Order: sequence, then structure tokens, then C-alpha cells
Amino acid sequence: NHLKTYFPITSGLFNRTVGHVKAVDDISITLKEGEAFGLVGESGSGKSTVGKTIVRLADKTSGEVKFKGIDLHQLSEKELRKLRPKLQLIFQDPYSSLNPRVRVGDAIGEALINHGLATKAEARELVLEVMDACGLSTYHYDRFPHEFSGGQRQRIGIARALVLNPDLIIADEPVSALDVSIQAQIINLFRKLQVSRGLTYLFISHDLSVVEHLCTRIGVMYLGTMMETASRDELFRNPLHPYTKALLSAVPVPIPKKKRKDQKERIVLSGDIPNPANPPSGCKFHTRCPFATDICREQLPVFRHAGGDHYIACHLA
Ligand code: SF4
Ligand code: MG
Repeated sequence: NHLKTYFPITSGLFNRTVGHVKAVDDISITLKEGEAFGLVGESGSGKSTVGKTIVRLADKTSGEVKFKGIDLHQLSEKELRKLRPKLQLIFQDPYSSLNPRVRVGDAIGEALINHGLATKAEARELVLEVMDACGLSTYHYDRFPHEFSGGQRQRIGIARALVLNPDLIIADEPVSALDVSIQAQIINLFRKLQVSRGLTYLFISHDLSVVEHLCTRIGVMYLGTMMETASRDELFRNPLHPYTKALLSAVPVPIPKKKRKDQKERIVLSGDIPNPANPPSGCKFHTRCPFATDICREQLPVFRHAGGDHYIACHLA
């Protein structure tokens, strides 16, 4: 609710704070149990910081994060630790968090033992079960991380999160480092697990076509601000925000001659994403928006209801 995460910019000998990077600047999202919500935006839009702030890997500046009614940022370290298994994060490259000398099966079961949720023998059973669910076999248990391909490593990353029996998985660009053919396999795995285990996902990606296959609701972020949220079908069929339109028009068409029904005329954005330490006045998108007028430069558009489950922040749309 109205989440803000600002990082101070310091300068000089005494680390005087000279400004703030407004990485997350008043974001509200409601995740329904069992749904997959896709958070989309260019790099630098603050979407990873949203994920990190939810699980308290980053401190919020203001606003609140509630999980089943519990305000996560009010919990003591001990209370948070107890709840941790229920909220799991999956990163782009699980390899970097795997100890090269620890066998993969043991790495997957590590947190179970650390959290006191299972004995060694019980952990082994649970690990083998989630490995199987993630398309890894018994044979992989005693292998070392370097023996796995990129796609298999992501399966290990998913298994590590899953073994704790979480309710919410925040996956931050989990397929971005993988080949396209492998991406599809991992997305399908995410989908299968969502159904079989009743998982809720916050799925973070810069790639709308990745999110399209998994998420039934999508939010589009730009410079720390939510520009548009809607159900997937509504967003793809009827995007209202100029930024969403531009992103959608850049989604490649699989068969060039056969335009998809919802394919829009290409809108090419000029320039780069502005510096979040010094965001544009008014609508943060105005410096790149082909439809910007005076009001856009002066007034911040409110995030408003646009019918059904559709919300946007734009003066003109
Ligand atoms: Fe473009 Fe103005 Fe809408 Fe912002 S408010 S997206 S600048 S038209
Ligand atoms: Mg990121």
C-alpha cells in the first residue's frame, strides 16, 4: 500500500545526503491468493526493488507491506525469520547463490534444516520430492552445481524455494538468462507448480511476452511508478497507457507476415529512461511520451479506475 523505497545519495567526506533515488515511488499492488501477477518494466523501473522491499531485503521509506494481514515491516527479526519460508525469492541466476562445493541435493535441503523444519533424513525425502516436481532426478542429488546447464540450475533455484512450502514466490527475471527454448520449459514448470501447489506469484520481468504466458494480471512500472494494471487479456487487447502501448508494440511477432490480432503499430520510444534521482516533473513519462502536453509536464496523473479491473495513471488516456 503506497509503498515508497528511496535510497539516499551521499556525497563528500561526511557522507552528507544530497538526494534520493526514488526506486519505488508510491506503488500499491494487491495479490490474490493463487494468482500470478506480472510486474513489467524496463531495467531501472524499480520492479526488483518492489520485490526486495516486500520481503524486507530493502527497507521501505513509507507505506506498508501486508501478508495475510500481517505488516511485514513491523515484525521483529525473530518473527520475520519464522515467516521467511512462506515468502520465497527466486533470482535470475541461482548459480551465484549455490556453493560450488555443496552437492545440489544438500543445497536444496539446507534451508529446511536451518529453519528447523526437518531432520536430515526428512529433508532428503522432501528434497527428492521437490526435485522430481521440478524435473530433476534422484541422480542429480549428489551432483555439484557446475555439472548443470542454465535451465537445470533454474530448476534447482525453484526447488530450493519450493522445498520450504511457500505461499508466495517472488521471481525476479527468473528466465532472462536462459535460451528461448529453455525459457518456455521453465515457464511451463512455473505454471504446473502454481496449479499443483496453489502458489501465488509476483513475477518480475522486463519481457511482456514472458509474463503473458504465466500471469493473469499485469502491472506496468516506469521510474518507480505504476502506470497501468489490468488483467492480461484486457492489457493485451486494450492497452490504454502510452507506455504500455509502446512496450506492447515492441513485442516481436513470431511469424512476421502473420500479424497477431492484437499487434499494435510500432511506437518507438525516443531516449533513455531518465535518472530516478531526478525524475521528470508531472507525469514521469512525459519526456518520452509522443502525446505529452502541458498538463503532463505540470501535474502528476493520479492512478485511477478505468473500468473493470483496469487502472491507469495518464491524463489523456
Ligand atoms: Fe503521456 Fe501525458 Fe499520459 Fe504521461 S500523462 S503518459 S505524458 S499523455
Ligand atoms: Mg531488476
